[in-house]
Amino acid sequence: MDLNSELKSLGRVYKMYSGRLEKLGIKTPWDLLLHVPNRYDNFSLVSKIENIQPGEIVTIKGKVENISNSYTRRWKNLQKALVVDETGEINVLWFNQPYLAKNIKIGDTIALSGKASSDKGKLLFVSPDYEIIGDGEEQIHTGRLVPVYPETRGITSKWIRRQVYKFLKILPDNLADVLPEEISSQENLLPLRKAILGIHFPHNLQEAEKAKERIAFEELFLLHLKSKIKRQEWEKEIKGNSFKIYEEKLNQFIKSLPFKLTTAQEKALLEIKKDLEKEVPMNRLLQGDVGSGKTILAASAMYLAYLNGYKSSLMAPTEILANQHFQTIKSLLEPLGIRIELITSSQKNNKNQEPEADISIGTHALLFKGPQKKDLGLVIIDEQQRFGVKQRSLIRKKGNNPHFLSLTATPIPRTVALAAYGDLDVSYLFEMPKGRIPIRTWLVPEEKRDSAYSWIEKEIKKNKTQAFIICPFIEESETMKTVKAASVEFEKLKKVFKELRLGLLHGKIKTKEKEKIMQDFKNGKFDILVATPLVEVGIDIPNATIIVIEGGERFGLSQLHQLRGRVGRNNAQSYCLIFTDAKNPQAIARLKGMETIQNGAELAELDLKLRGAGDIFGTLQHGELNLKVASFSDFKLIERTMTQAEKILPKLSKYPKLTQEIEKINSSQEISPD
Ligand code: ADP
Ligand code: MG
Repeated sequence: MDLNSELKSLGRVYKMYSGRLEKLGIKTPWDLLLHVPNRYDNFSLVSKIENIQPGEIVTIKGKVENISNSYTRRWKNLQKALVVDETGEINVLWFNQPYLAKNIKIGDTIALSGKASSDKGKLLFVSPDYEIIGDGEEQIHTGRLVPVYPETRGITSKWIRRQVYKFLKILPDNLADVLPEEISSQENLLPLRKAILGIHFPHNLQEAEKAKERIAFEELFLLHLKSKIKRQEWEKEIKGNSFKIYEEKLNQFIKSLPFKLTTAQEKALLEIKKDLEKEVPMNRLLQGDVGSGKTILAASAMYLAYLNGYKSSLMAPTEILANQHFQTIKSLLEPLGIRIELITSSQKNNKNQEPEADISIGTHALLFKGPQKKDLGLVIIDEQQRFGVKQRSLIRKKGNNPHFLSLTATPIPRTVALAAYGDLDVSYLFEMPKGRIPIRTWLVPEEKRDSAYSWIEKEIKKNKTQAFIICPFIEESETMKTVKAASVEFEKLKKVFKELRLGLLHGKIKTKEKEKIMQDFKNGKFDILVATPLVEVGIDIPNATIIVIEGGERFGLSQLHQLRGRVGRNNAQSYCLIFTDAKNPQAIARLKGMETIQNGAELAELDLKLRGAGDIFGTLQHGELNLKVASFSDFKLIERTMTQAEKILPKLSKYPKLTQEIEKINSSQEISPD
């Protein structure tokens, strides 16, 4: 049998379960073999019944003397059994599993694993794992390190274990290993066959670790290779439009700005210019912390496109942000004779009368209504992490291999970016504009809420500053529930800040009105904007210096950092006040991190440490790049596999098996434009 055949075709049960299995990413026996346990139950302490100490986790083997169904006085269903070996006897109790009394028969040889206890001086197992053992059969659910798998409704670890065991039996002895021998030996990796066996039924935890490392290594190694190959092809074959760099005009534009570019901005701009000059289309990710000044670089690139006679488009994840960019870019570039349009789904489409714009700014509506033509020479995506792979690749297809620039504040370490987006170049804005001072951040205890409010009021009156108050995050997408919560909060705050002017912003407000609210806030027509977390990304109101975040515990640190980044956008002292309902010390400690750490990358790392996987690696993991075994938080392994991939690339033709395997990698996992 072929381990790569569809499970569906291998029997009725698989067919019946195919939907559930696919939820776990399992379509073939091979996928099952790569379904890596979350953990192992250590049932390797095997004991005779007489030696059992109550409290220990232990496995015994014996004969079933008695088993029956019964009910308690309260009609709870119980299964009771008595199991004996040559040294003694133990009572066993299960709840609500009436089928057990049918499956397990008197006289069966059975193994039981679990925590032993005692009841009135007699030994007792409550709900142990069990396994009926036929002659000469190996134990897989008891008496060893027992794998516990990611499960889904109706698919238990026990079921998976049985299937895995079955397919392991037919694992060929000479299982082809795609990793070149030189790498396996340099990296001290297990052979594939040993790794597959060891990951499911290891003799000890070290063996399981080694096994997992081997599988994860291959996964990341292939990912690196795939994107490196893709990049080579891209550079060889894809022809785009080389731009002329009008240095003088560009310099004039930059000089006209009210600020001087930071060194980091200058460096990134240089990298962008170099890319635009090439015939190979630019494929660059510009990464810079919140407020580091990415927008101006996007504007510069669009200006260059215009000077070269090309159109460009800029896509943002929310209408508010698209509108803000529209206003900003208009004020920067319209004076230079450039026509700019805003395209959102709520925007009227009266194209026919209007002359065609040079720059289209919008939401994902750009995908349907934006410029399609050959003369689209540059595509920019802001807050790229907010878009799906599909949307990103769709917009790039609009032109004729346009240059592509994406912007993000997500602090992905370089090695991780290379693994995740290997065919992109990355520019880093490693510093903030001059004169920015750290945002003073406090986790405010509930009893100080009133004095916090009066402090805010004083501050606003004294300094003519403005404040955001962010309602708790309730749901992934904004529904009526969120809106209602925001409205309640708004009414409450109106009573608190009687002498101030308050505005409310949430996702269910009509676009036109939203725009007006933002515009009014920007123009100082009110003092406090009460908002749902939808203002999280991108919003730039330099005069606002205070942000209050409610329900802090519901946000990841990276999200909090994004929110906090709504202030501190000019050189005045800004403040961030976080409230929380959380009582547990861990959640508090996490939020306390905000008080001392200002830098997005450090916060992401802290989140990673405290919560296992932070927001960022979480999204990467479960979102677009579904790594099966490896993890994007394993920086060391990412580094090792990248080095090896680089070494092997020039001599790839010597390894046909490897090439084949790379071709098999699902290309939907990638971000490239094909
Ligand atoms: P982000 O990187 O978060 O998108 P923006 O591009 O919105 O940041 O810039 C944040 C604010 O800083 C804006 O008001 C922008 O005009 C301003 N800004 C950008 N670059 C500089 C600079 N070099 N010096 C001072 N202010 C700058
Ligand atoms: Mg921005």
